[in-house]
Amino acid sequence: MEHHPRKRFGQHFLHDGHIIQKIVDAIAPQKEDHLVEIGPGLGALTHALLPHVTTMDAVEIDRDIIPKLKDSSKQYGQLVIHEHDALTFAFSSLGKDYPLRIVGNLPYNISTPLIFHLLEQLHCIKDMHFMLQKEVVDRLSAQPGNKNYGRLSVMVQYFCVVKKLFNVAPGAFTPPPQVDSAIVRLIPHKDLPHVATNLSTLRKIVTTAFGQRRKTLRKSLSGLITPDQWDALNINPQLRPEQLSVADFVLISNIIDSLQSRS
Ligand code: SAH
Repeated sequence: MEHHPRKRFGQHFLHDGHIIQKIVDAIAPQKEDHLVEIGPGLGALTHALLPHVTTMDAVEIDRDIIPKLKDSSKQYGQLVIHEHDALTFAFSSLGKDYPLRIVGNLPYNISTPLIFHLLEQLHCIKDMHFMLQKEVVDRLSAQPGNKNYGRLSVMVQYFCVVKKLFNVAPGAFTPPPQVDSAIVRLIPHKDLPHVATNLSTLRKIVTTAFGQRRKTLRKSLSGLITPDQWDALNINPQLRPEQLSVADFVLISNIIDSLQSRS
């Protein structure tokens, strides 16, 4: 029962035992943890995780791979497979009793929308460990002043503490991807350190500011915020978006929102 990797499902299977062990060590699964793997494929990670836990869920879109995965996993532990597109899967339906620990060597073409889909279900998520394209991990974890700091950094760090763990070279996969990969850990904030009174306003100003990242904020946000408001904010409008912290963006968003709700 050989399986030919499918390009359209972003199938790059891990085969490097050393890397698989490093990922398991980083996750450090405990017996009672509620692990959910996205895209288990043929089970490279699944088989290494199963013996550590009582039971585990997995969400896989490729129906042809599922019987093979089911068969090969039996000897390692109890696996519940959900044949579903992770982009529309209701993870919260699994996390009613125990918060979820989500893991996955993700198909790189869906990684950003998938992370945004998961950010909407954070109330039932304890943490997330993902293998992603290294470039995406660098953007997720970038701090102000870094060239990779942008919309993705701000919107994900608004909700989570992000930590890049280690790089993984293409040779660890079959077939090897054309890009370098890295493992990232996302831990949702228990309480948000900076609360936006209106999330869509925050999204809008972050998108607008980074859409013209070489312009000063005064220019890029000119239609949204007045000079008086800049004065009240105590943020220098001559800065460029990559120089602002998440807290600064929340301040800007909240002053715009307070004006909108008054009018
Ligand atoms: N975890 C395995 C496979 C990684 S390849 C390993 O490390 O070897 C990516 C996996 O995600 C494949 O099994 C692919 O079929 C699956 N996948 C791709 N798109 C998906 C989606 N939208 N929802 C769920 N699984 C998906």
